[in-house]
Amino acid sequence: MNKKRIAILGSTGSIGTQTLNVIRRHPDLFEAEVLVGGSNAELLIKQALEFQPNMVVIADKSKYGTVCDALSSTDIKVFAGEESVCDIVEMDCVDIVMAAIVGFAGLKPTLNAIRAKKTIALANKETMVVAGEIVTAEARKNGVAILPVDSEHSAIFQTLQGEFHNKIDKILLTASGGPLFGRKREQIENVTLAEVLKHPNWSMGRKVTIDSASLMNKGLEVIEAKWLFGVGVDKIEVLVHPQSIVHSMVQFEDGSIKAQIGTPTMETPIQYALSYPHRIESHIPRFSFWEHPELTFFRPDTETFRCLPLAYNAIEQGGNIPCVMNAANEVAVQRFIDGKLRFIDIAGFVEQAISKATYIAHPTLDQLLECDTETRKTCNNI
Ligand code: NAD
Ligand code: MG
Repeated sequence: MNKKRIAILGSTGSIGTQTLNVIRRHPDLFEAEVLVGGSNAELLIKQALEFQPNMVVIADKSKYGTVCDALSSTDIKVFAGEESVCDIVEMDCVDIVMAAIVGFAGLKPTLNAIRAKKTIALANKETMVVAGEIVTAEARKNGVAILPVDSEHSAIFQTLQGEFHNKIDKILLTASGGPLFGRKREQIENVTLAEVLKHPNWSMGRKVTIDSASLMNKGLEVIEAKWLFGVGVDKIEVLVHPQSIVHSMVQFEDGSIKAQIGTPTMETPIQYALSYPHRIESHIPRFSFWEHPELTFFRPDTETFRCLPLAYNAIEQGGNIPCVMNAANEVAVQRFIDGKLRFIDIAGFVEQAISKATYIAHPTLDQLLECDTETRKTCNNI
């Protein structure tokens, strides 16, 4: 395997730092060529000094001076601003773009990377939710591989190796259920941010952790799976599996089900996306059936966790509605973090935003960008 040069969009986040862990352990195979951070200048500087990338970008322009000063004694080139984030992915020196910015902000740089024919390791699921049709069409047109990093989608992708000519009967998408699994509506009415952030199995960024608790994350993942694997959402079934050991499954036409199973850590899917099509050594503790003899599965409680059916509805309506849903959810999650919206009201908030939206059946990219902005404005009046 030739050494792969990687641009990490969102290097200071949960996926970004775990990507650097993988690179640190395999310096003969991977190189951090570009690091992009949002506003955490301190961590970005620390990462740059350790990994000596060719370039770094800080999206927050006000931190440009701080990063420049700290790296002035090195050869590392420093840029700032959202435009630089978009431009940097086009550089010749980049082979793989790890798309690990959180939220809608990840869309434009990811699309740019696809147009520049870079292999994409996709963590940013919002990109697929908002613009799955455009993103997959661009990837096809440019002959670009989109390698899933989201653990469930990596599991499905791994399961499909050697099966791409076979029809998928059903995708069985597993969900941990998050920290509120098993609770009823009245038991989540006054749930606090601290409770919601206490995920039982995964340590992740705040947004995805809150989405996991509301099951919006699983809704976003249903949409992501539809676009990544080209199946109708009627063929995607969600199973709550609290142990997070079975990362997802695919059922084929003959009734056979294949699963990908292992210790829950994002470093496995991250590493697989970087090393694909090879598997390389990993230090991850091996899963033991003797220590975990019981793997259980439940139907999702869609009456308590309404974001999941809401996402199914949004993708069935199609057009710009998933974009509206995503923007409203991002606003709702931020309001919950700020203590201005109850957790239980996230679904209703998103529903209201959708009811106020103007439907566009086949939105262009510009229309989606505008739709995101408009939805955020609409949200101000909810
Ligand atoms: P995070 O909040 O920990 O990190 C986000 C990163 O994006 C940070 O580096 C931040 O600085 C950067 N960023 C934010 N806004 C930016 C902007 N406008 N421009 C440039 N950079 C910006 O989030 P995360 O948990 O690492 O998640 C990243 C993505 O991966 C999300 O889409 C999430 O749904 C997905 N994902 C995460 C996990 C996980 O385990 N963390 C698992 C599956 C999928
Ligand atoms: Mg996931």
